[in-house]
Amino acid sequence: MNYVSTRGGMAPQAFSDILLEGLAPDGGLAVPQELPRIDAATLESWRDLTYADLAFEVLSRFASDIPVEDLRRMTRAAYQPASFKSADIVPLKPLDETTALVGLSEGPTLAFKDMAMQFLGQVFEYVLGKRGATLNILGATSGDTGSAAEYALRGKKGVAVFMLSPHGRMSAFQRAQMYSLQDENIHNIAVRGVFDEAQDIVKALAGDLDFKSRMRLGAVNSINWARIAAQVVYYFWGWLRATGKPGQQVSFTVPSGNFGNILSGHIARGMGLPVRRLVLATNENNVLEEFFRTGIYSPRGPEHTYATSSPSMDISRASNFERFVYDLVGRDGNRVKALWAEMAKTGRFDLSAEHSRFESEFGFVAGRSSHEDRLDTIRALFESKGLLIDPHTADGVKVAAQFVEPGVPMLVLETALPAKFSETIQQAIGRPAPVPADLAGLEALPQRVEVMDCDAGLVRAFLEKHAKL
Ligand SMILES: *Cc1c(COP(=O)(O)O)cnc(C)c1O
Repeated sequence: MNYVSTRGGMAPQAFSDILLEGLAPDGGLAVPQELPRIDAATLESWRDLTYADLAFEVLSRFASDIPVEDLRRMTRAAYQPASFKSADIVPLKPLDETTALVGLSEGPTLAFKDMAMQFLGQVFEYVLGKRGATLNILGATSGDTGSAAEYALRGKKGVAVFMLSPHGRMSAFQRAQMYSLQDENIHNIAVRGVFDEAQDIVKALAGDLDFKSRMRLGAVNSINWARIAAQVVYYFWGWLRATGKPGQQVSFTVPSGNFGNILSGHIARGMGLPVRRLVLATNENNVLEEFFRTGIYSPRGPEHTYATSSPSMDISRASNFERFVYDLVGRDGNRVKALWAEMAKTGRFDLSAEHSRFESEFGFVAGRSSHEDRLDTIRALFESKGLLIDPHTADGVKVAAQFVEPGVPMLVLETALPAKFSETIQQAIGRPAPVPADLAGLEALPQRVEVMDCDAGLVRAFLEKHAKL
């Protein structure tokens, strides 16, 4: 299995080679040259596997350059019950006869980002060890990605994490989660500014190619193919848990921001998993919902990207979307290049001529949710079932209801636990979300964080001093 670029300008490379890279050299994203196919008999033979061993089966199709015994050891280390709050790793939680949540948020940081990051932590350490190399992960976070990366990479050999966060702008719980880590390879840097300014510092430093190679800088952002591949696993898992016979179709609803999570569903469907619909749910930031409704892709600037109560979906320029468009235009890199050039010039592109294929060929439909919808959905589920969900998952549950069909299980991906977004829970039901027992004392633990002005020079100097070289 080799990987090429969505813009057609990269010689085929192995999984381990694209693992540590960001964008392809031509500005595109790495994608498999062709998708592995899983036939019905193979799928049936997977019914009794543990999550870790299912992950091995799926990932061995993508990471074909890693010896199978090493890969099996890594998936077992990544998806061990000790790291998750559920012995199943990913429990299914029924809401009614047709709809269930896929519990992706039982990992260390209470959001689905852990599912991919736990594997990334294993495979980064492994590949770096093989090559005798080191890597310094530099990133900016407004919450979920940074903490998932830190928990996955803490204590790992050959790798250090430098995570910028906006000083004073994350919830007390999110701060405690990240800043209480005392591992020598984890560096929290709180900058006096907003998230976008922190992100600009990362872009400036990673864009200085001499500094980047001297400091061995890397990233774990959502365009990383290994993250997409690791997320494919839970679509298979959800199907295996929700069905009893070969060929039975299920639909998935996915609360979406950067289009990473739902892209993994698109890949699973392309591998032969019987998926009827992929329902994309957005909040008020509905650039993607608009695309799937009209065929026009028109990303918005920061001034029209709203701060909502499902903040991890406040994204107007979804980085993984290009991978879907690549498939939509028949895997024609030149066409993708032309579309992105057109967008750079005019701010949009128009694929409305292809609109009828979005659902008929790829199963994609979309809906949007608002702050009121979120509160209503959280309250209704709590009152009727005693079940508490987070605001992002609520966007999914709200939109899923529009697309439920008799006899087709609807699986909504649970992208975070409510404890992470307690303010909105308080607003919905009049009291805060309970904090999982093992995290009860988190906010009282000593914190380790470097606070500095929003200045790339200061972060540069910090890296010069602390990077693992
Ligand atoms: C990251 C995130 C999302 C959005 O996922 P994408 O892969 O970016 O589409 C949704 N909900 C939560 C809680 C998240 O952390």
